[in-house]
Amino acid sequence: MASIDQKSTTVTSRATVAQNAVAALYPTQVIDHPSTLFSETKNSFWNTLQGEKVPACFFQPTAAEQVKNALVEVVRAKSPFAIKGGGHSSNLKGSSIQDGFQFDLVNLNHIEIADDKRSVKLGPGLRWGTVFKELERNRVITPGGRDASVGVPGFIFGVSADIVLANGELVTVDNDTHPKLNKALHGGGAHNFGIVTSLTLKLYPYDGMWGGMNLVAEEYFDDVFAAYDIYTQKLLDDKKAHMIMDFVRRDGEMFVAQFIGYTEPRKDPPTYDAILRIPTVANTLRLADYSALAEEMTEVTDSRGKRNAYWTLAMEYDINLLKSACALWAKMTEPHANHFRFAFDVNHITATMRNKAAREGVGNIYGLEGPDKPLTNILLTAVWEDGSDDETAMAILRSLGTAIEALAQQDGKECLFKYMNYAHQDQDVVAGFGEKNKAFLLDVAAKYDPEGIFQNLQLGGFKLEQRSLRK
Ligand SMILES: Cc1cc2nc3c(=O)[nH]c(=O)nc-3n(C[C@H](O)[C@H](O)[C@H](O)COP(=O)(O)OP(=O)(O)OC[C@H]3O[C@@H](n4cnc5c(N)ncnc54)[C@H](O)[C@@H]3O)c2cc1C
Repeated sequence: MASIDQKSTTVTSRATVAQNAVAALYPTQVIDHPSTLFSETKNSFWNTLQGEKVPACFFQPTAAEQVKNALVEVVRAKSPFAIKGGGHSSNLKGSSIQDGFQFDLVNLNHIEIADDKRSVKLGPGLRWGTVFKELERNRVITPGGRDASVGVPGFIFGVSADIVLANGELVTVDNDTHPKLNKALHGGGAHNFGIVTSLTLKLYPYDGMWGGMNLVAEEYFDDVFAAYDIYTQKLLDDKKAHMIMDFVRRDGEMFVAQFIGYTEPRKDPPTYDAILRIPTVANTLRLADYSALAEEMTEVTDSRGKRNAYWTLAMEYDINLLKSACALWAKMTEPHANHFRFAFDVNHITATMRNKAAREGVGNIYGLEGPDKPLTNILLTAVWEDGSDDETAMAILRSLGTAIEALAQQDGKECLFKYMNYAHQDQDVVAGFGEKNKAFLLDVAAKYDPEGIFQNLQLGGFKLEQRSLRK
C-alpha cells in the first residue's frame, strides 16, 4: 500500500500535470502560489478549517466551455479536484482540497432574468445577497439563503441546470431532458454528478417583506416554547411565515435569537401573535427587503476567520421533546462554554415542504414524504479559535447529536433524515435518504459517471458511499 507521503506526492504531480494543461489553455485564469491573489482566494472560504488547505492552484473559469475543457484535462491527468461555489460548506474539505486542483467558480456570476420575469438563470459564483438585491430591483424574488454571504450552488437546486458531466459533456438537465438525473440533483449533491455552470430558478412577484430578529432572555424560555407551539399550529394555514430559533450562550447567560421572515410586507402578522407578546432584549422587526434581512443575519451570526463545525439531526415535531433536547444541549455544553461558542438552531420542515415534491410531481431523494405533520430540523454548531481544540469540538458535537437522537428514539420520534447543508462530514447523509433513494442515486451515478470520477477524484462533499474525510 502506498504511504501517505507517496500518496501526497502522487496528488501533487497529477495536479501539476492538470494545472499545466489548463494554464496552457487559460494562462491568466490559473492562480498559482505564492501570490496575493492565491492568499485572498484561499481566505474566501467561510470556515478557517477549509481555508487552511493549500491546493496546487485555483482555476477561475469565466464560461461554461472553460469548465468543460478544464475538467477534461483534470480527468486525463487523474488529478484529485474540488469544486467551490460560495465556499460556505462547514466541513473540512467540503469544497477545498490539499495539493489537488481547485475549481473556483467565483467569476461565473451571471444573473439573467427571463423577459416574462418568471425565471432567472444564476451563475454558481453568486452569493445570495447579490442575487436578492438584483431581483428586488425587478420586483421579483426566489427562495434562497437566509444569510447573504452563502453561495447559490451548494445551497439549492432549481427547475433546471447546466452541468458538465464526468466525460466533459455540457448538458441542460430538467424534468423532461434527464428526469432521473434531475431527481438525483434535488438533494443528492451536485458535486456527486458534475459541475454546475448555471442554475435556473422560478421567480415570484415581490413587494417587500416583514421580519428581523427578536432576542429573548432565558427567563422567558418556557413562554418561548409555548408560543412556538402555537406558531407551529398556525403555520399549517400560513405558508408565508418563517422563523429559525437560535439558542446561544453569551457571557454565561442564555438567549434565543428568533430570526423571522414573512414573505409579504405586512406588519406583525397574526401567526406570530404569541411570539410577539414575549418581552425582548433586542428587536429589529420591521418592514424590510429580503436582502436587508439576509445582511442582518450575516452580521449577527458572523464567525468567518474562526474554526467552525456543524452537526445535524431531525425528529418528529413535539414541543416537549424539543424542550428536553434544548435543555440537554444547555446542560452538555455548559462545562465547555468558556472555550467554545455553541448554538442550538431549530427549523421546521413543514408539512407543506415535506410533501411538496410528491404533490407537484417533481421528485427529490430526501425520503421525507409522510403524514401532513411537521418535522423538526436541528442544527448544532460550534465555533472556536485554536486548532488544538479541533478534536474536542468534534467530540462534543458528536456526543450531543447522539444524546439528542437517543432522546427522540425514547419517544419513538426519531427520523433518519439529515439535511446535507447542515451535516458534519462524519454523518452518513445519503443513508438518511433511505435504502431505496440511495440505490437510486448510485444507479444514476453509474449511468452518468460510469468511471466514478465524481466519487473518487472529486474528493469534497458528501459522497454516495460515505467515507470519513477527516484525515
Ligand atoms: C453562515 C452560514 C449560514 C447558513 N445558512 C443557511 C440557511 O439559512 N439555510 C440553509 O439551508 N443552509 C444554510 N447554510 C448552509 C449552506 O447552505 C451550505 O453550506 C451550502 O452548501 C453553501 O453553499 P456554497 O456554494 O456557499 O458552498 P461551497 O462550500 O462552495 O459548496 C458546498 C458543496 O457544494 C459543491 N458545489 C459548489 N458549487 C458547485 C457546482 N457549481 N457544481 C457542483 N457542486 C458544487 C461543493 O463541492 C461542496 O460539496 C449556511 C451556512 C453558513 C456558513
